[in-house]
Amino acid sequence: MDTLREKPEKINIPKPPAGLIRFDEPMALHTTFKAGGPADIWVRPEGDYFPAYAADLIGFARSEGIPVFVLGGGANLVVADRGIRGIVLDTGGWTGWETLTGETREAAVCVCSGTAVDALIVALTERGWAGPEFLAGMPGTVGGAVWMNARCQEKSVSDLLIETEIIDMENDSLDPFWVSGKDGDFSYKRSPFQDRKVLITAARFSLKRGEPEELRRAAAALRRDREVKGHFRAPSAGSAFKNNRAFGKPTGKIIDETGLRGFSVGGAMIAPWHGNFIINTGQARAADIRALTEAVMEKVHAALGLTLEPEILFVGDWGEGG
Ligand SMILES: Cc1cc2nc3c(=O)[nH]c(=O)nc-3n(C[C@H](O)[C@H](O)[C@H](O)COP(=O)(O)OP(=O)(O)OC[C@H]3O[C@@H](n4cnc5c(N)ncnc54)[C@H](O)[C@@H]3O)c2cc1C
Repeated sequence: MDTLREKPEKINIPKPPAGLIRFDEPMALHTTFKAGGPADIWVRPEGDYFPAYAADLIGFARSEGIPVFVLGGGANLVVADRGIRGIVLDTGGWTGWETLTGETREAAVCVCSGTAVDALIVALTERGWAGPEFLAGMPGTVGGAVWMNARCQEKSVSDLLIETEIIDMENDSLDPFWVSGKDGDFSYKRSPFQDRKVLITAARFSLKRGEPEELRRAAAALRRDREVKGHFRAPSAGSAFKNNRAFGKPTGKIIDETGLRGFSVGGAMIAPWHGNFIINTGQARAADIRALTEAVMEKVHAALGLTLEPEILFVGDWGEGG
């Protein structure tokens, strides 16, 4: 892929009819960690033709042997300092939703995958639709939340998911199709999409009728709780490590008890206010975040014999040793 990095503008990539395409685009601009190197090619199509354009782009990339990385809100990612080789397909311009049986007590909403989770919740709660508000304030897109099977307040996205529309990047046909929300391994922070190369284009979630003011208040309380806990005080990707019931306590508490709050490597630090948050103190390199993640794992293992599992995803070109 080195040649693509050197001459990206010479690649005859299909251009989106509307939206942005940039070469050597810093991924620090597109991740909540505000770290990470450049994508060779970053494409953010805008508008209704997104699935058709995405299929063309994926087909083109496949025929040229160029990898495609699908980007949501970049809220769970550590992109390598060397960046991402190939094409980054940013879904953030593919937004919108439709409630499907609006007059009944039970209904569903069909959402384009690039829609911000919190924007969806604002719109649904205003209209008196309940269900997804447990995710209030969580950064990222609907596609990313389904892919990650995001979880808050002891509830997972899969609890609401009726079906997901995907393009299977490895299929002969690149037409989108629906798969049931019950098919495959949906478990703690796992979706079946983590085992295949797919682009999630849309998802349907079940809704219930609720009282708008009550829903609005509940969602606002959850957003406030995140603020109070310092979620937005510094760039991060949320919880750095998964919780593991077998440990008997939240991972943040385990890291606190190991005395690691405030521990840092380069510009990456365990938040002084939250044991399970790694923050960028200003100039963190992705390599600092990775080294800190590994150091915490080693220290917790040495102190308590527990093996932590990172929740944040390390993606892109880590080369030899990062
Ligand atoms: C302050 C803060 C608080 C957080 N709190 C929580 C929390 O309470 N609970 C929780 O679960 N997470 C939390 N997170 C993490 C993050 O918000 C979630 O993991 C979120 O679901 C990531 O969505 P995203 O769109 O940003 O995905 P990205 O980070 O862009 O991508 C994550 C993965 O999903 C894939 N992906 C994204 N979109 C698509 C798509 N359309 N099709 C196919 N693959 C796709 C990417 O390729 C990547 O592998 C938090 C993060 C922050 C910064």
